[in-house]
Amino acid sequence: MNMGMDMRMSIGMNMTTKLHPTHIIIHHSATADSGTVSWQAIRNYHINTQKWNDIGYHFGIELINNEYEIMIGRPITEYGAHCKELQMNRRSIGVCCIGNYDDTPPPVQLLSKLEYLVLWLMNIYHIRVECVLGHREVGEMAGFDWKKGQYKSCPGTKFNMRQLRDRLLQAMP
Ligand SMILES: [Zn+2]
Repeated sequence: MNMGMDMRMSIGMNMTTKLHPTHIIIHHSATADSGTVSWQAIRNYHINTQKWNDIGYHFGIELINNEYEIMIGRPITEYGAHCKELQMNRRSIGVCCIGNYDDTPPPVQLLSKLEYLVLWLMNIYHIRVECVLGHREVGEMAGFDWKKGQYKSCPGTKFNMRQLRDRLLQAMP
């Protein structure tokens, strides 16, 4: 038994990989980003109120003091709980940007940290830029019109997904 195996067993990590992601879905928390940690509050809400096993997202981007940080959520090997349309929970990575982007566009610093994370995930899982979608775009693909209130506007009406994909495309190696 090697050291890695021993460590995984000792922390009780599930070694089977359920999730084989083909998509990355971007969300917002629709809450104010106060500059303190809300990630744990979201995790508590998902566990205690929604009765899920863990936070629904795999990753978050949050302003901590003056820096945007990548927060770790549910293990990347597990199915998420962030977008049930088109079975996306079973085939996508969920990333939540803390803040409300119905009110204001996402800050440049947040977007650059998000791009860094998404490029990294695209690279590892061979995910195409067309498969990086906003939550509302999945709703549209499933036949719901968010502009008519049939679906969430997530990751915010002021969050420009096309621009994000253009920037990812430019940054791709
Ligand atoms: Zn969402």
